[in-house]
Amino acid sequence: MRLLIMGPPGVGKGTQAKDIAAHYGIPAISTGDIFRANVKNETPLGLEVARIMEIGGYVPDEITDSIVENRLAEADAANGWLLDGYPRTLGQVESLDKVLAGTGTAIDAVISLVAAEEPLIARLLKRAEIEGRADDNEETIKHRMAVYNEATDPLLAIYRERGLLVEVDGIGAIPEVAQRITSALDAKLS
Ligand code: AMP
Repeated sequence: MRLLIMGPPGVGKGTQAKDIAAHYGIPAISTGDIFRANVKNETPLGLEVARIMEIGGYVPDEITDSIVENRLAEADAANGWLLDGYPRTLGQVESLDKVLAGTGTAIDAVISLVAAEEPLIARLLKRAEIEGRADDNEETIKHRMAVYNEATDPLLAIYRERGLLVEVDGIGAIPEVAQRITSALDAKLS
């Protein structure tokens, strides 16, 4: 099972990704988590991306693409994975296509979590208070939303055209949304 989960900042991709991945017995791979771990450990990569993340920009494709390519080559990803937060640019879509072509594998479905912007901004501001994430202040949140709308939202059309998109309402209690996702996937993949 090879899945992507996409959606605007604050829609709950990370939480849902972990649940779905556990449900299907595949690793959830979050580029955001990988970057955050590197920032925390002050690795050379972390030092390079910290500022970009702080202002809510995108890490350059060359860096992100090679991280994902290497991660997908690890043993636990041999039989499937769920990518959370990647691809986010057209270049990343193309890079992932190449990696998959190189291994003779393909994406089974792309989960698109859908929500209006207003409740998401409120949710992110609340998370900022609770978790104290460096990239969760109002200005950065708005910037991340704008970058998402410009660079990432248009990518959904590519996967829709390929017949891979599974759209799910992202607003609701966590288990409710999880249930919607697994039912939609079951319907799509059966
Ligand atoms: P996330 O946890 O997915 O919201 O990611 C947090 C931050 O990590 C983003 O705001 C970006 O700065 C960076 N990031 C994560 N994934 C990507 C990606 N696929 N391309 C570029 N930057 C990324």
